[in-house]
Amino acid sequence: MTHPESQRDTHGDTHGDLHGDLHGDDRFTLYDLRVDVIATDRPMVCNHRAGDYFELSGEMLRFPDGQGFPLYSLAGLLPILPAKQRETHPADWMTTDTDIACVDPHCGGRFRITRTARRTFRHGDVTVVPMPSIPSDR
Ligand SMILES: [Zn+2]
Repeated sequence: MTHPESQRDTHGDTHGDLHGDLHGDDRFTLYDLRVDVIATDRPMVCNHRAGDYFELSGEMLRFPDGQGFPLYSLAGLLPILPAKQRETHPADWMTTDTDIACVDPHCGGRFRITRTARRTFRHGDVTVVPMPSIPSDR
């Protein structure tokens, strides 16, 4: 697995992109994510197996050919993923914590969320809502 730092895009440091809009820039970045099923010492109850995974890039979830993923486990993960896609403060638990427990309290499965790369998007490519105008003297 590639370390996220090695795949940073060419648009500067991690915090510069957060404020790109202040400079009339309509670009923003999100992390691509990979979610891997991790085994623990407790058995898995759901139909996920160690080594199963899926990836998220922008709004697109991708699963390996032929591999499914349990609905309820996915539902438990979904609220976390958009936050994990975004740049977070180094002290924020969202930055440091990577493993999420399965929503079934009887299941030993864990899901490891890894930021794999940063991807740049343009505002106009992802929404029809206009950006607020930015005063030019900033
Ligand atoms: Zn489970």
